Amino acid sequence: MRFVPMTEYLQIDLETERWQCRRCGREIASARENYKTGLLVFDRDPREIHRPLIDPQRYEFTFSPDPQWCRIVEFYCPGCGTMVEVEYLPPGHPPTYDMEIDIDALRAQKAGLDDDAVIPLGRDLPVNFSTQAHSNWTGER
Ligand SMILES: [Zn+2]
Repeated sequence: MRFVPMTEYLQIDLETERWQCRRCGREIASARENYKTGLLVFDRDPREIHRPLIDPQRYEFTFSPDPQWCRIVEFYCPGCGTMVEVEYLPPGHPPTYDMEIDIDALRAQKAGLDDDAVIPLGRDLPVNFSTQAHSNWTGER
């Protein structure tokens, strides 16, 4: 198996050892490094997303995150613009390293699979459009 899906929008190409976008196939970064180094970054003021619930002219605390303490960092694929990840971080904090993959172990694990083998993940999951009512916890319908 050459392409291994890791998240809804990311896969690893075991031949090139690169992170790739699952939407457009764009190579993003080395699979032995943080994938976020190859993505576009939008450092957002959290007040754009979580608007104040009460008048900021009258109150110090408005239920909206303080931009001096919190930033919303969005990561986008440079090929197709798909939002890949979002983090809430203190200002100036480097991107978190949330997936460190043992490429050699992954290659050994997937060695026996065909290149066209499908690992259901995210948007690949089959959708059940059944019109039957769902059962409740007692099993009744
Ligand atoms: Zn893409």
